[in-house]
Amino acid sequence: MPGYELFGAEERKEVNDVLETGIIMRYGFDGPRKGNWKAKELEAAICETFGSKYAQLTSSGTTALSAAMAVLGIGYGDEIIMPSFTFVASFEAVLSVGAVPVLVDIDETLTLDIEAVRKAITPKTKCIMPVHMCGSMARLDELKQICDEHKLILLEDACQSIGATYKGKSVGTIGHAGTFSFDFVKTITCGEGGVVMTNDEALYTKLDGYTDHGHDHLGVDRGADLHPFIGTNYRISELHAAVGLAQIRKVQGFLATQKKNHTQLKSMLAAIPEVSFRVIPDESGDSCSFISWFLPTEALTKAVVAEMKAQGILPGNFYWFDNNWHYVRKWDHLKEVKSLQPVSPEQTAALQKLQAQDFSASDAIISRCISTSISLLWTEEQIADKGAKMVAAIQKVLQASPVTA
Ligand SMILES: *Cc1c(COP(=O)(O)O)cnc(C)c1O
Repeated sequence: MPGYELFGAEERKEVNDVLETGIIMRYGFDGPRKGNWKAKELEAAICETFGSKYAQLTSSGTTALSAAMAVLGIGYGDEIIMPSFTFVASFEAVLSVGAVPVLVDIDETLTLDIEAVRKAITPKTKCIMPVHMCGSMARLDELKQICDEHKLILLEDACQSIGATYKGKSVGTIGHAGTFSFDFVKTITCGEGGVVMTNDEALYTKLDGYTDHGHDHLGVDRGADLHPFIGTNYRISELHAAVGLAQIRKVQGFLATQKKNHTQLKSMLAAIPEVSFRVIPDESGDSCSFISWFLPTEALTKAVVAEMKAQGILPGNFYWFDNNWHYVRKWDHLKEVKSLQPVSPEQTAALQKLQAQDFSASDAIISRCISTSISLLWTEEQIADKGAKMVAAIQKVLQASPVTA
């Protein structure tokens, strides 16, 4: 899955270009930077690689989401529908703009359940934010249709699914805006970084200013820039962008390796009749950074996790149900509104409501799900060995407590 696994001479070369001039900021200093515009080059490469008209780099995937929401005009009192299974960054961004996160159940796509979304719509709903978790995608046609019907914004959190496509288009380019994260464990990395993609020129112009203190970038020099609106600083540095530039040039190779390794391992797991797999709305568009698979019951899944742990083969396998970062069950800080700054009454009410909200439909899926991350470094022999050990662990548990339908 992560680009850091294949890090080397290309990254060092790009970073050294920047270090040689010492201009490690992305704007200004036109002369001294001697033609190095790594952030601009990376934005162009993102547009080219993923088929977006515009791309605005940011300091992280989280600030990419916050910036997207801000320029989309989402703020105080607006409700954003999002899934119960994601990374904490998704709701952090919602709260950062003053909006209200409305968490709803997932289905076997591991993201938004369509009926749950429909039921959650209120007059205050402004945006639907699917999160394309673990390398694969949401039911985008259905979500787009709901957004059209109700005049809502579709914002794709594609931070975990760089390179996934839906019906031929890159995820993150299908809604009004979409984001990738380039943090250290994502498919390509800048160390830290993110991007907002959009096909809407007006939105892009706002992003360009908003992420750099609202400067309009129209002055004869930076000091002459005007401020059509209030912005903030979500800039990426040239050093980070340089790393990303080396990584994006290798991304097709990363994706091909992921797909190959994924296919080999999945075929071994698929030989066990009790194992089923995540629903992928467009199977050919899976980025293959993970295999997400299910066992018939929570008890069996927990037993398999314990068996894999005992055998030392758990690393790289994620049991999200017990995970503190990714699933609503363990987000006590959110449900108890442990905010360091005052939050709005609307936000407080929505968060407190989570304590009693019924997420049994999500529990029934996540409690049976294990996601296996796909390494770019595995050899065929290593995959065969890993697969054989996983299959043996699963079969041992199934034989000890056979599934009785
Ligand atoms: C990684 C991630 C983000 C944002 O990540 P940063 O670490 O801030 O770059 C947002 N959403 C999801 C689903 C993620 O996995």
